[in-house]
Amino acid sequence: MKKIKVAISACLLGQEVRYNGGHKHAPFCTQVLSKWFEYLPICPEVEIGMGVPREPIRLVMEGDQVRSKNVGDHSQDYTDQLTDYAHQKLPELADVCGYIFMQKSPSCGLFRVKAYLPTGMPHNEPQTGIYAKVIDDELPLLPKEEAGRLNDVHLRENFIIRVFATDAWRREVLSDNAPGALVEFHRRYKFLLQAHSEVMYRELGRLVARANEGESIRRDYFQLFMQCLAKPAKIKSHVNVLYHLLGFFKNSLSTEAKASIIKTIEQYQQQKVFLMTPLTMMRHYAEVHHINYLLEQVYLQPYPNELGLQNHI
Ligand code: SF4
Repeated sequence: MKKIKVAISACLLGQEVRYNGGHKHAPFCTQVLSKWFEYLPICPEVEIGMGVPREPIRLVMEGDQVRSKNVGDHSQDYTDQLTDYAHQKLPELADVCGYIFMQKSPSCGLFRVKAYLPTGMPHNEPQTGIYAKVIDDELPLLPKEEAGRLNDVHLRENFIIRVFATDAWRREVLSDNAPGALVEFHRRYKFLLQAHSEVMYRELGRLVARANEGESIRRDYFQLFMQCLAKPAKIKSHVNVLYHLLGFFKNSLSTEAKASIIKTIEQYQQQKVFLMTPLTMMRHYAEVHHINYLLEQVYLQPYPNELGLQNHI
């Protein structure tokens, strides 16, 4: 399989580009995700010519404006350079399917970056790094996450699902102008979408019914599709989907086998087993009984098994 292109803060790959000449190597990115992701490393501070080592910068609030300034000398302001650089970078980011940012950085931090008042006192509202803010505003549908937050299994899984889905969208729908490509894509994502939001799934279905209206429907579909996947899937919704899938085995499984699947779904509902357990059973029986409709469903395998992400409640 061709690797998926994902942008990443260069220091997370172990590149010594930080202000102090160090790095922030993220082993999960370099040792696990790198099997599927081809990285595009970017260090905006180095790219605008700040050099390594360099004096540190921080976010400083000037009224309601967020500025990026030298910690010890506020007359050195890098806001405009970082903003311009982010805008210049956009065409190169057109084909990436995700972006992993370094947390807490005044340039790359996506969430809750510390900001200060001109006096040096902390400001009470955390901000987004200057470079990351432009990327977030300009590419709102691009899956983005901070490396630190990838330690949370749910955030990690949600990010990875969205990266793989973005890649699939580009390969399966954008590369094929026929309305049937969108219909087929929606069909394969049915249960995954339902697990995230039944309401949005239905709304997406209404857009698919207008697939032959062309480009604007695809745009609306993808926007809602990404919003749907960004919503965390709850245990209750997974349970509903699992029972729905069970219906496909109505005529092929023995009463005992069905009872055993039901027992596993109940155990998942009671948080005694991981989601992986009922999903693995479903996949197994779908393979044994050649239930292709289920085998084609992304829900049963939204990303490679080796990532082991569904090993959580
Ligand atoms: S956080 Fe961003 S700006 Fe800072 S060293 Fe890492 S890549 Fe460079």
